[in-house]
Amino acid sequence: MTTASFTGLSRIRYVRAFTVRGGGADYHDQGAGHWIDDHIATPMARYPEYRQSRQSFGINVLGTLVVELEAEDGTVGFAVTTGGEPAAFIVEKHLSRFLIGRSPADYEKIWDQMYFSTQYYGRKGLVVNAISGVDLAIWDLLGKLRGEPVYHMLGGAVRDELQFYATGARPDLAKEMGFIGGKLPLHHGPAEGLEGLEKNIENLSDMRSKCGDDFWLMLDCWMSLDLDYATRLAQRAWDECGLKWIEEALSPDDYWGYAALKKNAPRGLLVTTGEHEATRWGFRMLMDMDCCDIIQPDVGWCGGVTELIKIANYADSRGVMMVPHGSSVYSYHFVITRHNSPFAEFLMMHPGPTEVVPMFAPQLLGEPVPVNGRIRASELDKPGFGVELNREIALHRPYPND
Ligand SMILES: [Mg+2]
Repeated sequence: MTTASFTGLSRIRYVRAFTVRGGGADYHDQGAGHWIDDHIATPMARYPEYRQSRQSFGINVLGTLVVELEAEDGTVGFAVTTGGEPAAFIVEKHLSRFLIGRSPADYEKIWDQMYFSTQYYGRKGLVVNAISGVDLAIWDLLGKLRGEPVYHMLGGAVRDELQFYATGARPDLAKEMGFIGGKLPLHHGPAEGLEGLEKNIENLSDMRSKCGDDFWLMLDCWMSLDLDYATRLAQRAWDECGLKWIEEALSPDDYWGYAALKKNAPRGLLVTTGEHEATRWGFRMLMDMDCCDIIQPDVGWCGGVTELIKIANYADSRGVMMVPHGSSVYSYHFVITRHNSPFAEFLMMHPGPTEVVPMFAPQLLGEPVPVNGRIRASELDKPGFGVELNREIALHRPYPND
């Protein structure tokens, strides 16, 4: 018997990186009047001129990144994430050298080379978004070459369906649509003082009265608070409104603040964070410092599926729940394989939001959406991530390599 390496799979021949405007993976890139840009509390809200709109400080400046990998046999895998033009530059000018001529089955070695070759200017943020986009495209290509859904390659479904909570301005409507909970954006930060705190509590109380006592209500604070404000908000939201969790209350760099908030928060109220954290090392910090009850990695930002496996396994061994941030099919194929991910997030991208629309529309074709707050595992039974790139939209390739 020989020990020759397995060479049966078609290798990667072309790497292409495109940018796209107008919603999709860069879901903040929306038109006027969308709930997602309506005076939401942010760390920039300390400046009155950037308080009303997140687009005013440039939240949508990057746009979507599309990574496309074509194998020698013509099979194409792709993925979408954020990062736009600078991420396209990194993919085509830097990362492509670790992909061309390689088998997508070698994702561990490819990930390692992408991460350590960019470490001197990377580690988190934009560079890891780019790496995540490539990694997701590798898994999509691998699944398409093998004729297997990604969730099969990750060990298979541990339940028959995904259950969702909805993120958006109308948890009352989300309840009617069959979701298990609703997560509201916080509207007022510390710079708006006690008056803003009262308005935050009023808004939450109003939603509690509309949703009844048993429906989960959560608050997404998008990194906008300080420890004192977060502690007071958590206490009142728990006492007066039965809040289930307080999300991303502090800066993602403030591990010490999160550890203190978790100690300060009322017993029973969950502290969650992690959508702007990256890699096994970032999440190890969150967990080793006991910063939160639920970690919320975004698979398109934290390093992709290859890295999420490591993050999820560490969380599982620590007894920490992992409920990934948004990210549509890229999360669904992971969540369905994990007992410590018992439900998933659905971002309500309708402007109202008064109806369920595909999260990454119009970029993905065949993107499943929850019906009655659920998606059957069998809906994921297509090769790769089970979606195709919509070629009707304007794809721009700023740094062609071939
Ligand atoms: Mg969030």
